[in-house]
Amino acid sequence: MNEIELTIEQSKIYNGVICPYCKGISEMIKSKEIYGKDYGWLYICKPCDAYVGCHKNSKRPLGRLANKNLRKLKNEAHRYFDKIWKLKILDRTKAYNWLSEQLNIPFDYTHIGMFSEKTCRTVVEISKRALNDNRRLDMDFGVEPVTEFFETI
Ligand SMILES: [Zn+2]
Repeated sequence: MNEIELTIEQSKIYNGVICPYCKGISEMIKSKEIYGKDYGWLYICKPCDAYVGCHKNSKRPLGRLANKNLRKLKNEAHRYFDKIWKLKILDRTKAYNWLSEQLNIPFDYTHIGMFSEKTCRTVVEISKRALNDNRRLDMDFGVEPVTEFFETI
């Protein structure tokens, strides 16, 4: 998959302009209001308790607004997927290329911040499996594995 055309509504969701749950217009607030500490700007839909942070020193959102459950799943997806490049199993670009191919999502849209709950769950599973495969390979070669074994579904 290379080219996909987003609808206006989808673009607005990806740009943090509208809330994906109620389709209302989001507000921009200082993250201090939520976290008690300043991490820059947040797009928020207060009625839905859905929000997303912005890239450092910018008003560009990291993805779509996320409710509590999606925020939890995004963190979990990052926790496992990021190990793949942080532990240098693949470099960061290759890791995102791999994820894009696994999910059959164009590379430009392969951002955990843009994913649904279902896609985040898939990221967790495939990342755990990749880490387990790497662990088994390390052990086959008599190398100390860089991760523990992760239970998969
Ligand atoms: Zn909303």
